[in-house]
Amino acid sequence: MDFTKIFVGGEWREGRGGLTDSIDPADGSLVARRGVASVDDVDDAVAAGLQASADPEWRNMLPHQRARILARIGDAIEADVEAISALQTADTGKTRAETRALALSAAGTFRYFAAALETMDETLTSPRGSYLTMSVHEPIGVVGAITPWNSPIASDAQKIAPALAAGNAVVLKPAEWTSLVSLHLARLVEQQGLPRGLLSVLPGPGSVIGDAIVRHRGVGKILFTGGTTTGRRIAAVAAEKLMPVSLELGGKSPTIVLEDADMDQAIAGILFGIFSSSGQSCIAGSRLFVDRSIYDAFVPRLVERAAALRIGPGTSTETQVAPLVSTIHRDQVAAHVERALAAGATLLCGGEAPSGPEFDQGAYYRPTILAGVPNDAVICQEEIFGPVLVVLPFDGEEDLVAQANDTVFGLAAGIWSRDFPRAYRLARRLEAGTVWVNTYKQFSISTPFGGWKESGLGVEKGRDGIRAHMRQKSIYLGLDSHPLPWA
Ligand code: NAD
Repeated sequence: MDFTKIFVGGEWREGRGGLTDSIDPADGSLVARRGVASVDDVDDAVAAGLQASADPEWRNMLPHQRARILARIGDAIEADVEAISALQTADTGKTRAETRALALSAAGTFRYFAAALETMDETLTSPRGSYLTMSVHEPIGVVGAITPWNSPIASDAQKIAPALAAGNAVVLKPAEWTSLVSLHLARLVEQQGLPRGLLSVLPGPGSVIGDAIVRHRGVGKILFTGGTTTGRRIAAVAAEKLMPVSLELGGKSPTIVLEDADMDQAIAGILFGIFSSSGQSCIAGSRLFVDRSIYDAFVPRLVERAAALRIGPGTSTETQVAPLVSTIHRDQVAAHVERALAAGATLLCGGEAPSGPEFDQGAYYRPTILAGVPNDAVICQEEIFGPVLVVLPFDGEEDLVAQANDTVFGLAAGIWSRDFPRAYRLARRLEAGTVWVNTYKQFSISTPFGGWKESGLGVEKGRDGIRAHMRQKSIYLGLDSHPLPWA
């Protein structure tokens, strides 16, 4: 596929922002030259989206017909899963197992929202006079979707599918480092009969293209996934425009091991929770709280297993920990660890890039575990977005809840315990949008997802995911044949 062209209002054209390189983080090689959008391209995409979303062909399309297009997109993604997975592994460094799962999740997302759309009802409300009242939902028009680099096709689908199901047009801006798969997705969508102009894919810098989409007067809602700093900036612009936003932001999620936990299960889950995706996950379980009574027995076992994880390119079926998205990001992760060590943290494993000719050109970093710092240390409070875990002991439930909730974030949490009522009680006390008990990082498109505190605003997924991209309208139908008494 030619990635030098971008998808603007149904047309493949050279981006007016020039060209840039997409680099494979496993070895630094060039994956593709890629087009970059300009602010003029944003104007064209929004204009095409406004026209297409208002066109009776789309606006009046019956839900089951719209659902058929969405289901076809889901099937097309699934049929193309190997190509998507290979492309995404080259662009992001992730393992093929993970990129395959992300592509299948994107396919499932389109099919889920197709099914949800078919079963959506409007409400006839109780009248209090001689009229019939109903509450209906209508599309917003053009929705801007801005996504991060850590799981491109899945987060793209999570925004595009419900927004299209709701009857909108979507202008998608993927992350700079990982735009290839979003352009590929646009090709698949285009081939499934989606009317022209309803989807644009505009790769480019967030501060220029993302910002232009957010500020554009024709854009009626922003769906954003990314860092908290960017989210706050977008929310400020949205406040000026009085525009709704959905923000899926960062995290520093606590994982908790109670003294009665199944140790093998907990260790496997904790390693997966922090080191899969090389820790580049908003929900990564990056703060580990272990009951002090088992701390000395538990932590060495965890460290031994972490140090034995297999590092390698995403293309190898042996690999558990793949490269990070870029050497720039890897160096930022390394700098976090250096600062923590300088501030007094103890290094239990990792703390460096692996050496050897197979790693030298790649963005690799060893799974790293730190300890010996209090929960208010910078390393326990800042999101690192890399394979770095910090371990802390706790003494009793009150101390645990106080420490676990002492963070600006509130995205997710994990609890490992055989005592289900106790784990449930604890789950209800944690300030987080998602809590896993005896599992971690499991997702269902039918289960709403959103962050508390500085981890986000609003929820995505679930049946209400379509409604979130609509505007509610009440209609009163008068039943009297004579004038209103006042007149
Ligand atoms: P980022 O905030 O730097 O960028 C996210 C997207 O926003 C990119 O497409 C970027 O180009 C764009 N952007 C940047 N500045 C912008 C601006 N001023 N206006 C509009 N758009 C702008 O985040 P990232 O580094 O790509 O991704 C990592 C972050 O994403 C982490 O903080 C992670 O926790 C978060 N994340 C959250 C979730 C979630 O569901 N809560 C999921 C994945 C990632």
